[in-house]
Amino acid sequence: MRKFLCLLALSLLSCKRDNPELRSKPQIVVTTSILADGVKNIVGDLADVVALMPAGVDPHLYKASVRDLDKLQNADLIIYHGLFLEGKMTEIFEKLRLQKALINAGEGVDENLLIRSGPEAHSVDPHIWFDVKLWAMSMSFVANQIIDWKPAWESQITQNSTKYQEDLRILDQDILSKTKILREANQALITAHDAFAYFGEAYGLEVKGLQGLSTLSEPGLRDLTGLVSFIVEQDIKAVFAEQTISPKAIQAVVAGCESRNHPIKLAGPLYTDSLDAEGTPAGTYIGMVKTNLQMIFNNLSS
Ligand SMILES: [Zn+2]
Repeated sequence: MRKFLCLLALSLLSCKRDNPELRSKPQIVVTTSILADGVKNIVGDLADVVALMPAGVDPHLYKASVRDLDKLQNADLIIYHGLFLEGKMTEIFEKLRLQKALINAGEGVDENLLIRSGPEAHSVDPHIWFDVKLWAMSMSFVANQIIDWKPAWESQITQNSTKYQEDLRILDQDILSKTKILREANQALITAHDAFAYFGEAYGLEVKGLQGLSTLSEPGLRDLTGLVSFIVEQDIKAVFAEQTISPKAIQAVVAGCESRNHPIKLAGPLYTDSLDAEGTPAGTYIGMVKTNLQMIFNNLSS
């Protein structure tokens, strides 16, 4: 009984806390930690930004909990990546679109710049944040959409967004100069899943992932053998684990290389579909990209 009363008190407290009427600022609910960081850079102190997925969670596989649905229902504005990144939440967003203010950040990227693995809508590669220019494009779209939603915020949002775009421009230049060295060393970036196609396209580095665009697809033996041959032939120095994915599959690549007398480093993890915990070096988008870049550079350049 006592436990029940405690639970009741807790749920009443949380109801009170979640009540949109009692908020001092509008609440923007987003899906991932990456998106939360981008949106925080745009809105600054104007709104509270709440991410549904904690750091380290794989967005391809993420299913909304009852609590998440509650947060979405009570949000003043919802922002999601789109491009089928949140593969198990697509229907929820379709439904919410009819009743809530909602921004699909992926709509900000020019269709012609998207990478596709096939003609179907869901075969689009959602990992646009690894081309900093595409991320900047998407965040500029989000900023404009937020202004449409709250015109009174225009001057503050414009100021924040201009600063963020400048930070992103500097980041992009930094990646271009470091990847140039890797290009010259003939190295390729090999990861657990296909998250870096935009990175490869933007910065001229060959990239290969063991799993497909989504972590939903399982790698087969043929993929593994092909990848091992590629590594041996190209004399690649390291492969990379990812933070949101079990290292088992990529460990099989390392074992395959060893069996062909090509010992290889298993480096990482790279941050792909989530930031690291808040306050850590990879706890912001820019920090995550820099941490990855340094990790890739250190392991492939020497
Ligand atoms: Zn992914």
